[in-house]
Amino acid sequence: MQKPLIIVYYYTILGGVYCFQFASICYNSLTVKAIPVLMYHHVNTAGSFITVGLRNFERQMAFLKDRGYRTINTEDLADILNGNATAASNTVMITFDDGWADNWHYAYPVLRKYALKAVFFVVTSWIHDGTAEIGTFPYHKECKALVAEGRLIEAAMSWEQLREMEDSGLIDIQSHTHTHKKLDEDGIYQDITTSKGLIEGRLSKKCEAVCWPWGIYNDKYISDALRAGYKLLFTTELGTNTQKTGPLEIKRIAIGDIGVVKFRKKLFIHSDDGLSKLYLRIFK
Ligand SMILES: [Zn+2]
Repeated sequence: MQKPLIIVYYYTILGGVYCFQFASICYNSLTVKAIPVLMYHHVNTAGSFITVGLRNFERQMAFLKDRGYRTINTEDLADILNGNATAASNTVMITFDDGWADNWHYAYPVLRKYALKAVFFVVTSWIHDGTAEIGTFPYHKECKALVAEGRLIEAAMSWEQLREMEDSGLIDIQSHTHTHKKLDEDGIYQDITTSKGLIEGRLSKKCEAVCWPWGIYNDKYISDALRAGYKLLFTTELGTNTQKTGPLEIKRIAIGDIGVVKFRKKLFIHSDDGLSKLYLRIFK
């Protein structure tokens, strides 16, 4: 090969290597790894308002397992957001709100099948000591009506079920307040203290995370939660989480009855802080 040609090849390859390194440095400095916290309420035979159909839920969980996602509990998240641990790539948190009976019947077996961790935020005044043979599980509107009528066994999980899930080492039970009511500022401290006491007493574990119903909270709520001994506070605000955003206003991403393509897109976007913010700025 002629000498000038060798020189051209040499510099072309060298230039390529430098360009790649430069692009990689830029990418790493612009992107910040984030923890997406996925928000679910119900899993039932078919999807509807805030209910994920069993088929799609199974596909979503299988996707997490196949792609090697690391699911975490509240203790893991506290360590990461407080800077005591670094998040492995593909870290994600799965959360369920309210404590509906279908969580036990449909969601838990799938989580167990794929050995995925999840956090269940329960409304402690809805959790009961009853047992019921339920053939079909009510959807959200009906669940709310059953709770209002005091028919908790037909709508919500029992303490025994919560204990069994806790014992599996996969499910982390935490507070979604005691009453799920829009409380005034004076009432919230008592409410979340009751909830914490019940979870810790009935399940022999620490309860240091609370999820605000309807995402309603303010500075007084935050200071009351800290005073009551909570360390992680979950909202319904859309977005993702980094050490910079901290543990007191944890954002979440609502996961509806969506297939794997949309689910994957949500995970990809919200696993990166910069991309998540950009996406929300454009599409929110
Ligand atoms: Zn709720």
